Amino acid sequence: RWNEIPLAPPDKILGIAEAFKEDSNPKKINLGVGAYRNNEGKPIIFPSVKNAERSLLETEVEKEYTGINGSKPFQSIVQNFIFNNSNKDAAGAKLIGGNRIVTAQTISGTGSLRVIADFLVRFNSAKKIYVPKPTWANHIAVFTDAGLDAEFYAYYDNNANDLDFANLTKSLEDADPESVVLLHACCHNPTGMDLTPEQWEVVLEIIQQKKLYPLIDMAYQGFASGNPYKDIGLIRRINQLVVEGKIPSYSLCQSFAKNMGLYGERTGSISIVTESPEQSKAIDSQLKKLIRPMYSSPPIHGSKIVETIFSNPELLESWLGDLDQVVGRLNTVRDKLYQKLDKTNYNWDHLTKQRGMFVYTGLSKEQMIALREKYSVYATEDGRFSISGINDSNVDYLANAINEVVRD
Ligand code: PMP
Repeated sequence: RWNEIPLAPPDKILGIAEAFKEDSNPKKINLGVGAYRNNEGKPIIFPSVKNAERSLLETEVEKEYTGINGSKPFQSIVQNFIFNNSNKDAAGAKLIGGNRIVTAQTISGTGSLRVIADFLVRFNSAKKIYVPKPTWANHIAVFTDAGLDAEFYAYYDNNANDLDFANLTKSLEDADPESVVLLHACCHNPTGMDLTPEQWEVVLEIIQQKKLYPLIDMAYQGFASGNPYKDIGLIRRINQLVVEGKIPSYSLCQSFAKNMGLYGERTGSISIVTESPEQSKAIDSQLKKLIRPMYSSPPIHGSKIVETIFSNPELLESWLGDLDQVVGRLNTVRDKLYQKLDKTNYNWDHLTKQRGMFVYTGLSKEQMIALREKYSVYATEDGRFSISGINDSNVDYLANAINEVVRD
């Protein structure tokens, strides 16, 4: 039995971590995994999160299961935070007040993508989802494993190291009507290149014409500007269009992995904006029916941290400060790397336009392999660096390695 099972290929990003561990070069650098490291190269717990945990340790009196969709306080915190922009988004407030948003806590961002994919397979007439080329590799695996048919729309021009907006709009205009379209809310992974508000307007117009269903993935809220309330322009705009009846509905996958540093706590959410309170009721019940046999209910520690932070104004302020510091360091390191790169034979200006956790270098697969084999610099072969692996102690070594590889 099972002797015919072939060996599955290792996960691209986790495979890099393994190879990095084996390397004995003391100068080695891991720029693979998209998780924050401080200037000493160490992972951190946000001080605000630690304080929320201290308070939980004192006050928590049970570890009972939460609801299938998570707790009511968590759901309303997420809705208020994202859709109402903490009282600054009138359209979002209208949708919440009109019972037109169904929110469920999920097993972080990946879990929310899987839950909505399963939901779409069950209930959306079209089974096709368009994803940007390139996109986070796991998007395609999540959607196709659930039974959706994933296809690319143009997003990035690898030769120009820039958005390929003309082809982006063209491929969405050619998309099958009523299909799902995946949009990265901000800090596009892996390119770090986002659309401007004017470009979003064009895309939202095509979405209306083609009756596409927007599925927004927001894994890096706060990493574009340092302020999570400023990074949701797309959501505010789409809320207006929903209230005006121009876009009937959409869904949003969200994660606290990066912006609260809750990676392993697996804390995120799916929100489905519906057409009516009656539809909300039905969709809420179907989400529960879908989740219950899959994992019964989500984990509680992370969502209690979120609840604690959002219900205490001091902790909330402190979290916003922690996040701003993290993003500030990433931007400083991005600038430092840019300064040290040799611009004689290679134009590095795209680095200054990118936002978020990654630098999308445009280096070829061969150059990335040379970086790994000659300099022990580990990153995905598509030329993406996770910036947080860069710090004051290795930025010179890294810039020099890149300059050498580009020169060769
Ligand atoms: N979407 C994107 C674009 C991501 O980059 C990630 C994490 N790398 C996720 C979703 C999911 O992250 P998590 O499951 O850790 O919340």
